[in-house]
Amino acid sequence: MSKAPALQLMDIHKTFGDHEVLKGISLEAHDGDVISILGSSGSGKSTFLRCINLLENPTRGQIHFNGEQLKLQPGAHDLEAADQKQLTRMRQRIGFVFQSFNLWPHMTILENVMEGPLHVLKRPKQEVADYAEHLLHKVGIADKKHMYPNQLSGGQQQRVAIARTLAMDPQVILFDEPTSALDPELVGEVLGVMRNLAEEGRTMLIVTHEMNFAREVSSEVVFLHQGLVEEKGTPEKVFGAPDSARCREFLSSTF
Ligand code: ADP
Ligand code: MG
Repeated sequence: MSKAPALQLMDIHKTFGDHEVLKGISLEAHDGDVISILGSSGSGKSTFLRCINLLENPTRGQIHFNGEQLKLQPGAHDLEAADQKQLTRMRQRIGFVFQSFNLWPHMTILENVMEGPLHVLKRPKQEVADYAEHLLHKVGIADKKHMYPNQLSGGQQQRVAIARTLAMDPQVILFDEPTSALDPELVGEVLGVMRNLAEEGRTMLIVTHEMNFAREVSSEVVFLHQGLVEEKGTPEKVFGAPDSARCREFLSSTF
């Protein structure tokens, strides 16, 4: 029997009030997949990503993580939506990198990266410190480890945020527009780190407006329109010869 997908999202719906933002999105990510999610502002990209690790509680649909079905309560308030033990276990395996970095301002760079493995995973301090240094080296920030987030550029802070996520040893990493808050000259250094992760075989779902990047690193590209998958396929197909006129229009407005 072949291995279950790392993530399987089935018919995900999300309604806020009477606004149905997600209208039934299904998607599978296998180990090593890099899936880029494109779409215009308001199409539901962030909501979809947030539903995956239950930062939002889907109104309807199913989520399987390594073949295990998450126990959801569709009607419940977000924080009551799931089996808390299962949710905690799953969230530790799914990293999330936000547009706005979200580093802890009162902690040094090294402390930011050590916090999760030390206090959540309860790993031994020396081992955590060594691994954190290794990760900071990997994202090119090792020399800034004793500085505080506000002493770093946005691009450097986002690279720290990626190292912090990696420190938890995630099986899947979700990125929500990781370069959208950056000055243009800082975008490349963050995309470079993400490209290395893709080449290492990391499993990633990336909401991005960086079309060249998406085209080069993705195994699959998904274009959302008004809460539905409007087009999906290989980068060659979606960027080269999309079936959907809306997708063509979107791409021609962004290139
Ligand atoms: P995208 O990331 O593609 O720009 P979002 O997922 O952020 O889109 O938003 C999709 C739609 O859902 C928008 O119309 C937005 O206003 C709405 N929305 C998102 N989050 C909430 C919320 N917490 N409450 C009400 N409406 C929301
Ligand atoms: Mg968004």
